[in-house]
Amino acid sequence: MARLGGGSPWTEDAPVIDEATRVFRPIDANLDVEGLPQSGTGQATLFTGINCAEAAGRHYGPFPHSTSKPILKQHSVFARLKNAGYGVDRLAFANAYPQRFFVHAWERKRWTVTTYMARKAGIDLHGSDELRAGNAVSAGITNDRWRDHLDPTMPPVTEAAAARRFHEIGRAHAFSLFEYYLTDKIGHEQDFDKSEAILITLDRFFAGLLDHLDPSHDLLLVSSDHGNLEDLSIKTHTRNPVPLVAYGAGANVFRNANSLLDVTPTLVDLMTSR
Ligand SMILES: [Zn+2]
Repeated sequence: MARLGGGSPWTEDAPVIDEATRVFRPIDANLDVEGLPQSGTGQATLFTGINCAEAAGRHYGPFPHSTSKPILKQHSVFARLKNAGYGVDRLAFANAYPQRFFVHAWERKRWTVTTYMARKAGIDLHGSDELRAGNAVSAGITNDRWRDHLDPTMPPVTEAAAARRFHEIGRAHAFSLFEYYLTDKIGHEQDFDKSEAILITLDRFFAGLLDHLDPSHDLLLVSSDHGNLEDLSIKTHTRNPVPLVAYGAGANVFRNANSLLDVTPTLVDLMTSR
């Protein structure tokens, strides 16, 4: 992670980086709304560029608020890229979900922000078959949690192998999304050892991506819907800024991004102007 941050750990003391192929800066996740940011409205804002916390009248989560759904349907990054002429076969959501996720989602008619916006745009959701075939990435990056909790026959993958897969998915598509949630889960648990373990996993995953990325061709964007793990002294989310990392081709267009609102519109502009 330090390599992406120009040598700095991702803390509030890290200097802003503004280079042609690397931008690293803090962005606001509070969105001019009081209270602690939540995943439902934060993710909906990050992935649409429209202030969904303001639309809902509060921070709401973890699932999409009723007022976020029409916004996600019309203005998600997937919908925007489709409208700009990218076919659904050029857009990917790389995460693999276990069968029980789909069962619960259908039973409760409740999808997460990312699965909701992918489904509404006609983007395939992946399951255990795609994960087993190496065409998707599990939420934990390695398959350890999947093997421990869901299916011990799922082949293990290292972080480096998962990074290679994600890079291959990226190369096969114009835009590929991967969502990582354990930084939130373990932030709530306030468990230092677990947080150290997932930061090591993320470190190895990003190192693997950097080994494969061609910064003159590929663009890696990393951000978050809200703070949490950076302060293990509290159980809740935080109002801290979140990191925005842009590394590779066109990264510098993100140099003026100031909040979650700026990420998707800037990305879509970049992808429709070249
Ligand atoms: Zn949370």
